[in-house]
Amino acid sequence: MNKSFVNTSSILKIPLIFLLFISFLSCDDDGVLPIFQPSYDKQLGQELSVQISNDTQTYPLLKNATAKEYLQNIVDEIIKAPEIKYAKQFDYQVEIINSNVINAFAIPGGYVYVHLGLLKYLESEAELAAILAHEIAHIDKRHSVQTIQKQYGVSFLVDLFMPENASQLTTFATDLLTNLAFLRNSRENEFEADEYSFYYLCSTKWYPAAGKDFFSRMLKQSKTTPNIFEEIFSTHPTDENRIEKLNKLIEAKGIASATEANLFKERYKQFKNSI
Ligand SMILES: [Zn+2]
Repeated sequence: MNKSFVNTSSILKIPLIFLLFISFLSCDDDGVLPIFQPSYDKQLGQELSVQISNDTQTYPLLKNATAKEYLQNIVDEIIKAPEIKYAKQFDYQVEIINSNVINAFAIPGGYVYVHLGLLKYLESEAELAAILAHEIAHIDKRHSVQTIQKQYGVSFLVDLFMPENASQLTTFATDLLTNLAFLRNSRENEFEADEYSFYYLCSTKWYPAAGKDFFSRMLKQSKTTPNIFEEIFSTHPTDENRIEKLNKLIEAKGIASATEANLFKERYKQFKNSI
């Protein structure tokens, strides 16, 4: 990634001893150094969401209030789960991108984006809830900030979030959106997002492992039509292991088989017909 816009002179203003000190601090349970406050996720997410809204070519947002409300209601239910750490700090909201791509992504601070192509591909409300919960887990576990911290280093981030460097944050957000590197999740982060998606959904009305129906369908169909899943597989590495891990969680929690009462296929069909 291009780091040429880093203002090294302001890094030098930070006492070296301070940088050494924070580099020895251990990460908190988000895997993020404690100095990177959740308010940084919000700041970066805000910047990214503005740029996404302005780039109507790449991200044509669907102006369908009813559809958006349907998704937002599911998000609002999921974030009531006791495992969600930042339900109050982050502003969890969802947007639909009017494109045929089969994918969804999250940006720090609470913003989830779902492509229309994915909504049309899904077969139950529980599958949609699983995807939304998975994206919420990426946000709540601060996976993007962890990735950025690893890629750019501590001193870069300390500099980036200094109040006087607002324009640098804007440039950084542009760079992130161009590269989309922060959306490419590691396998560990994918598994963690699947695992927490399952835990969050355990306290909702939706079958908590419906994601595996979706994974199975994609893996099967990708053998004949791999190109339609190119984007989702590049940002969400998917193989049989993801299904296997969900099966283990189902077994460990003693979850009964899915039924229409917790999949909501019929209601989802009606939703799909309305968009
Ligand atoms: Zn993911």
